[in-house]
Amino acid sequence: MSKKVRIGNITIGGGERIAVQSMATFKTSSEKALTQAVALYRAGCDILRFSVTDFEDAKAFGKIKKSVNIPLCADIHFDCRLAVAAVKGGADKIRINPGNVGSENGIKEIAAAVKAAGIPVRVGSNGGSIEKEFLDKYGKNEIALAESALKEVALLEKYGVYDIVVSVKASSPALTVKAYEYVAKKTDYPLHIGVTEAGTEYNGVIKNAVAIGTLLFRGIGDTIRVSLSADPLREIKAAKAILSAVGKESYGAEVIACPTCGRCEWDCMAFAEKTERFLDGVRKPLKVAVMGCVVNGPGEARDADIGIAGGKDCCMIFVKGEPYKKVKKEDAEAEFFAELKKCIP
Ligand code: SF4
Repeated sequence: MSKKVRIGNITIGGGERIAVQSMATFKTSSEKALTQAVALYRAGCDILRFSVTDFEDAKAFGKIKKSVNIPLCADIHFDCRLAVAAVKGGADKIRINPGNVGSENGIKEIAAAVKAAGIPVRVGSNGGSIEKEFLDKYGKNEIALAESALKEVALLEKYGVYDIVVSVKASSPALTVKAYEYVAKKTDYPLHIGVTEAGTEYNGVIKNAVAIGTLLFRGIGDTIRVSLSADPLREIKAAKAILSAVGKESYGAEVIACPTCGRCEWDCMAFAEKTERFLDGVRKPLKVAVMGCVVNGPGEARDADIGIAGGKDCCMIFVKGEPYKKVKKEDAEAEFFAELKKCIP
């Protein structure tokens, strides 16, 4: 089991709930970043990261923290002075990349700042920026990716930092999985898992789901980020869907729907999508089924809390697989959504 690490008002590792992370896409000191942070917080983001590109960004954490009640992580590339400034500015965690953090002196400075503030550091190694020493020694593989991170971890420990989170991401799910399996054998620090540069939403979600799902099924991973070239709100939605699919815990309402077949006599797919939109953001665990036919639908979706199955002229609302109410097709949406409203707070 991994070690527990406290980040602001949450704890990750040691069997704690898997935390969902995302990253703001606007300049940290901008109003847009603040607005985005609030939206991500409301959507259920547990830890939110911001790039720190200058001292204005480093100072912005305090202001953002007044609007959101989740830990904020400062993402540092190249300049250790910005890490120190971000800690002073109110960041709850610092992320450094071993491939570009620079000298041992820089690490020493960061270590002194985080120890004084009592905040953790994520050592985040990426396939695209592995330290040259390890690339030369191993080539671009899981060992280079993981050892690059582990060297930085050892340096932080040398300067007295033991609240550490590790990530070893690649853009290939296969390399990502191998790197995390390797690093999980070498350290008991909690692991932040995900695929980096995964791509646009469709492909990116698939790559992340494959890697994150595989790792979580193997008991590896304490916090996840589904990196996507898309609105970060989509990352939160995807992360929750992956965690629900893995069965870690229910991350809110879930719609199950049949693929339909020749027995289907209504627009089941459109209805399922509408239902998903209706339930978007509902945190209460609720399994809702939208099924193509009354003959097989209710039975096949017996494990759903509530569901609807379409017929030629009418639809059947069912509860735990048992018929509850027959409604006219044209009233189906209003009737079903009224029943759903009764189930959610
Ligand atoms: S529930 Fe009915 S429509 Fe849907 S796949 Fe099964 S048999 Fe076909």
